[in-house]
Amino acid sequence: MKIKIGIGYDIHRLHEGKKLFLGGVKIPFSKGLTGHSDGDCLIHAIIDALLGAIGEGDIGQYFPDTDPRYRNIQSTKLLEIIMDHVRKKGGSIHHIDCIIIAESPKIGPHIAKMKQVLCPLLQIQTNDLGIKSKTNEGIGSLGQGEAIAAVAQALLGLE
Ligand code: MG
Repeated sequence: MKIKIGIGYDIHRLHEGKKLFLGGVKIPFSKGLTGHSDGDCLIHAIIDALLGAIGEGDIGQYFPDTDPRYRNIQSTKLLEIIMDHVRKKGGSIHHIDCIIIAESPKIGPHIAKMKQVLCPLLQIQTNDLGIKSKTNEGIGSLGQGEAIAAVAQALLGLE
């Protein structure tokens, strides 16, 4: 079995009147992430890390933002499709580690729920998924609360 590594990054703008989804969990907040899908930058970063680990491009190539089928789609659905693809390629996940960068709201109280949603989709145990959160110390657009970003790294075994 070959060991493969992938990295993913994503950022979405925050806007009033949108629902906030991160890691497949709806988080109570006055703003939400805009995007062609539900804007879940954590799941998008994980998808890019998985695609990177199997050497296959990025999320935009699989789910173009010009395709009406993916408008407002839940990112958990996109992750299901990518996991099918990873399995067909003989891939299985050993570990994923992630960072969410958000000035607000507080992410910590929602991490356990995110793991509950994501681990079954990723077919890993809760201790095979790390999710951490940081603020951007008030610096730049992330620090001003204009956007939320996420970074993910995935370690896969490939048959
Ligand atoms: Mg995205």
